[in-house]
Amino acid sequence: MHISYLAVSEKRCTIQMTNCNFKCRGCFSNKRHDHCIDITPSRLAKHIPSDKEVMLAGGEPTIDKQGLLSLIHELDRQKLIISTNGYLLDETLLQKLKGITIHIDLKALNTKLHRWYTGKDNTRVLKAVQLLYSNDFDFTVSTVYIPDVVDTEEIERIARFLSGIGDIRYKIIRYIPVGGLSRRPHIREIETSVKIAKKYLSNVSSSMENRSHPKYRKILDPLVLLE
Ligand code: SF4
Repeated sequence: MHISYLAVSEKRCTIQMTNCNFKCRGCFSNKRHDHCIDITPSRLAKHIPSDKEVMLAGGEPTIDKQGLLSLIHELDRQKLIISTNGYLLDETLLQKLKGITIHIDLKALNTKLHRWYTGKDNTRVLKAVQLLYSNDFDFTVSTVYIPDVVDTEEIERIARFLSGIGDIRYKIIRYIPVGGLSRRPHIREIETSVKIAKKYLSNVSSSMENRSHPKYRKILDPLVLLE
């Protein structure tokens, strides 16, 4: 497996995979980490504390399907969360991920906007959301609020789309400015978009009230992982 880092906080162990099949214009994942390593799933599993929940994030964890499934095999799937862009989440893979919590990004509902922002069509992502729902997964859909790119109107369209599938958990993430694409959203913009999404869905939150990334984290040196 190709990973950028393993970080441990009080409750969570986060593993960041390096590669991704999207090229999001607002991605800061690759810009934060210059170093990455190749490691076998069994070796990686030895460094994951058994008492923590484990977040597999990206990059995109589903690209190396075999590596992902081998790693899952070594861990307690009830403590696992996979954070994914959803592009490769088809019926076959989902059958193998039963019991695992999924965080899926929906970057945009508008096809052209999604293609412009990520380089990929969103048909497979929309289908993945439907599959997660029909297969009864514990999952959350997330959208990054990017002023003048993906803002309140698009978030309302997404919330309406999701409500057509079911009362899906929805989270709005505050954009972190990268490369001059946009500015940092004002708090009131996030609050407004949460309020609007709540017209369609009962469980809407934002990254401001519900942080996914704990402040204190110990990041293990990649070389330590190879010992
Ligand atoms: S899906 Fe995530 S990791 Fe991949 S390019 Fe987009 S923001 Fe970056």
